[in-house]
Amino acid sequence: MTSLWHATHQPRADRAHSLEPLPDRTDLVVVGAGITGLTTALLARRAGLEVLLLEARSIGAAATGNSTAKVSLLQGTVLSGIRRHHDQEVVDAYVRSNTDGRDLLTGLMEELGVSYQRETAYTYATTDQGLRSLEQEYAAAVGAGLPMRWTDRTELPYDVAGTIALDGQLQVHPMELLEALASAFEDAGGRLVEGVRVVKVGKTETVVHTTVGDVRADKVVMTTGAPTLDRAGHFARVVAARSYALSFALPDEAAVPHGMYLSADQPSRSIRWTPSEQGRLLLVGGNGHDVGRDGHTDRRVQQLVDWTREHWGEVSLTHQWSAQDYTAENLLPIVQKLPGGAEVWQASGFQKWGFTNGPASALALLAAVTGEPEPSGAARSAGASPECATSATRRWRSRRSAGT
Ligand SMILES: Cc1cc2nc3c(=O)[nH]c(=O)nc-3n(C[C@H](O)[C@H](O)[C@H](O)COP(=O)(O)OP(=O)(O)OC[C@H]3O[C@@H](n4cnc5c(N)ncnc54)[C@H](O)[C@@H]3O)c2cc1C
Repeated sequence: MTSLWHATHQPRADRAHSLEPLPDRTDLVVVGAGITGLTTALLARRAGLEVLLLEARSIGAAATGNSTAKVSLLQGTVLSGIRRHHDQEVVDAYVRSNTDGRDLLTGLMEELGVSYQRETAYTYATTDQGLRSLEQEYAAAVGAGLPMRWTDRTELPYDVAGTIALDGQLQVHPMELLEALASAFEDAGGRLVEGVRVVKVGKTETVVHTTVGDVRADKVVMTTGAPTLDRAGHFARVVAARSYALSFALPDEAAVPHGMYLSADQPSRSIRWTPSEQGRLLLVGGNGHDVGRDGHTDRRVQQLVDWTREHWGEVSLTHQWSAQDYTAENLLPIVQKLPGGAEVWQASGFQKWGFTNGPASALALLAAVTGEPEPSGAARSAGASPECATSATRRWRSRRSAGT
């Protein structure tokens, strides 16, 4: 099951660990080369730190290179989900932080020449229950200042009970994005090594133990998605959820919607398009479940194929893939220092919205490892010197550490 993104990306052979031994020491080791690790590593290197980025497999091997890569502040029904457990101020802070993440990523894509498409994001309902979810999502989003709108019109080939929309969101080819971030990091003097798994990090001294030797560092950032270090019961604070994605060529590409759609109802259905050598492809994803709770994953994929053919007719499947992402028990992303004397930081829990939460976490991690105030995404991506943290992000972080 190779994703469309990996199938259309040329991996680089010059990042193998066998080519050059690891250094004895460095300022910062970043572990994991998904969107969070690569963005953090690039920002830290540009801030003047000596950075070593270690990846167990290859860039984008886990969630990022196997996602649907929508960069959106309308995230299905995430905001109303957070609102049910927290007050509106936390939703506001989440939106501010994700806005910073999206703006940072947009600035980097502009700077590095990564192509992306600007599209409208939609959450739609097909049932009365879904419609109630939309009303709650609309209220939470408008409360946080997002310019939401209701619409009766969609490009979908089936009836919907209602749709909320947010214009001007983005979609991208995730491996083109990661390759651009990786190259920019290397061009700035950072070192990215693939095929090196971190197996342990010292609790009092920051020694990173890997499958090919040890590296001493002042600080370590774990951006591995799954909490790989067994500390503070962190592994028990997140739930892993798997989803599936497929790409299809349609006989008439005019039938491929332009918008980025996500259903409020279950089973979830995620839709977007992507450019390709075969023209515009239709991407259909969703049908997710908690990891380990379904032994019939082939059936999940077949259901998506059948559903797509029911609505779009004789489509031809080009690629299918799946991946998992992590959700924290309080539904908020986790950016934290792990217990112990050593400076080890971790970011996870993006609830399948890492293309905004990952870069947002990179800003918080940059502040943590440099000791500088957190810049806003826009200021950072424009190369400005660090400015004050957004008050929303500070509030959010202090609330998080207070366990709310
Ligand atoms: C099917 C699916 C679709 C999604 N679609 C979207 C979307 O449309 N929009 C959106 O915003 N989000 C989406 N997400 C979520 C998003 O993909 C993730 O939140 C995001 O990619 C997480 O990025 P990351 O860098 O934190 O982790 P990852 O991309 O998972 O990267 C972690 C890296 O760490 C490496 N690693 C792990 N352990 C070690 C170790 N011990 N040593 C060294 N390296 C290690 C892994 O090999 C991996 O490369 C989706 C998720 C899924 C599952």
